[in-house]
Amino acid sequence: MASTTPAAVRVEKTSGKGVEVDWSDGHKSTFPFQYLRDACPCATCDDEREKSGAAMGEAPKKKAAALPMYKEPMRPNTATPVGKYAIAFEWNDGHHSGIYSWEYLRTMCPCEECKKTRAEGGKLVPGGSGAIFG
Ligand SMILES: [Zn+2]
Ligand SMILES: [Zn+2]
Repeated sequence: MASTTPAAVRVEKTSGKGVEVDWSDGHKSTFPFQYLRDACPCATCDDEREKSGAAMGEAPKKKAAALPMYKEPMRPNTATPVGKYAIAFEWNDGHHSGIYSWEYLRTMCPCEECKKTRAEGGKLVPGGSGAIFG
C-alpha cells in the first residue's frame, strides 16, 4: 500500500517548478503547478471536466468561441495546509476552491513509475472529493 502521508512538502513558488512531495514510504512526486490547477478537485472544475470530456488532470477543453489569450504561468499565491490530510492553493487566476488531499495527490503522481502502475491496473475515478484507485 502506497503511503499517502507526506514526510516533506516543498512549494516551489519562486522557481515556478511545482510542488515537491517526499512521501513517508520514500517515494518522491513533483507536481507542476499547471497540472495541479487542471486537476483541481473542486465541484466546479469537476463539473467542467465532465462536461468537456476531459480526463482527470487535464484542462477542460476550451469552448470554440474562446480567443487565444496570453496566460501567465500558473502559480499559487498561497499554499495552505488543511488539517493533516490536505493542502489548498489560491491560484494566480483567482481560483481557490480546490482542496487537494494527500491521498488524491498520491493517486495522481505524474512520475513514470506511477503512470505505469495506473496503466496496468489502477484506474483514476474522478469524484468531487478526490480520485481513488478503483
Ligand atoms: Zn476548482
Ligand atoms: Zn510516483
